Amino acid sequence: MQVKIIGAHGGVTRGYHATSILIDDKLLIDAGSAASSMDIQAQVAIESVLISHAHLDHTKDLGFLCDNCFGLRPAPFQVYTHKTVKNAIKAHLFNDVIWPDFSVLPTKNDPCIIFNEIEEEKELQLGEYTVLPIHVKHPGDAYGFVVTKGNVSIVFTQDTGPTERIWEVAKKVKNLRAIFTEVSFPNKLQNIAELSDHHTPQSMKKEIEKMPDKVPIYLGHLKPNYQEELIQEITDLKNSRLHILYADDVRFNFD
Ligand SMILES: [Zn+2]
Ligand SMILES: [Zn+2]
Repeated sequence: MQVKIIGAHGGVTRGYHATSILIDDKLLIDAGSAASSMDIQAQVAIESVLISHAHLDHTKDLGFLCDNCFGLRPAPFQVYTHKTVKNAIKAHLFNDVIWPDFSVLPTKNDPCIIFNEIEEEKELQLGEYTVLPIHVKHPGDAYGFVVTKGNVSIVFTQDTGPTERIWEVAKKVKNLRAIFTEVSFPNKLQNIAELSDHHTPQSMKKEIEKMPDKVPIYLGHLKPNYQEELIQEITDLKNSRLHILYADDVRFNFD
């Protein structure tokens, strides 16, 4: 499985893109930067989209994906997300005020985008991928995903504060090759991290104790304005399992 980090960050500024991860050039997890940081042909080639939660840094490019690919795709984008997330996107983004409702455009029967509802801990099959959504701790409804293809499984939590269930499940996953999760704020902003259900390096240190042993951990969603401080504090943890997603547009291969 190839994991391409289109956008690794929990914010947007020059050179820093919001969360989007592309698997094997066809399965997209979150749409924070999938339009602004990918060629249009690559956008057209996306087959399925998983959305973890409704926050703008994970959804904003859905509208631009539809716009960019309008008339270029043989079929609608198939978006998979929980009902509450779908309802939030439709009410607040695709509401014909902030952006056109591409789920009924150009026609209701042949739209640009179709929202499919997923359920907590109910597996779905997307082509060759099995996806298990697990609820995580973040405002509104937010989900992490265990994605499996053949004998490779990877956990993607996206945004979450300290949580339990996804690690219980992850411990039972065979062939778990990697965990992609988040550290958003430096230790001095621990109270902000707790209020917003995110991690700091010091809370991640405790979180790692709940995770399966030995599996490499990739930390993303760094807030761009604290990136240098975060890199220092994560490095100070002196844990060889930790990898920092400080740059966008990087690829990892797992087999
Ligand atoms: Zn986020
Ligand atoms: Zn969020």
